[in-house]
Amino acid sequence: MSCRVGLGFDAHSFAEGRRLVLGGVQIPHPLGLAGHSDADVLVHAVMDALLGACGERDIGVRFPDSDPTFRDISSLVLLEEVMGVVSERGCRVLNVDCVLVAQEPRLSPYIEDMRKRLAFVLRVPENRVGIKATTTEGMGFTGRGEGIAAMAVALVEEVNSL
Ligand code: MG
Repeated sequence: MSCRVGLGFDAHSFAEGRRLVLGGVQIPHPLGLAGHSDADVLVHAVMDALLGACGERDIGVRFPDSDPTFRDISSLVLLEEVMGVVSERGCRVLNVDCVLVAQEPRLSPYIEDMRKRLAFVLRVPENRVGIKATTTEGMGFTGRGEGIAAMAVALVEEVNSL
């Protein structure tokens, strides 16, 4: 069995008048994240991990923020498109594991819902989607509450080698 791993990282700053969407889940919070799409930093990190595992360029190349098509789009729609690339490359997802880095809000109540939504689009059981949330104990840009960061790894299996 031929497996490939990919790594993704993303960060978005907080902004007023925006929704906070993480892992496809809308979270009640006075501030949302700035971005061209819905700024779902978790899904962005997962997409880059998947694209990296498949030997593809990053989401900035695939979904440029100069393109009005992607304005305020749900990142789960973009993830669906990335899944199309994964299968075109003859791969399927084995598992993904992620870390959300945020001082606030407290994300633990929303993690199970995020796992469900990601697992559905990734076509894997929920126990193959790991999502953890941590603070940085007040240190750095996340600690100062300037924004949220996310990291992800994805493992894919080459079903048909091209
Ligand atoms: Mg992003």
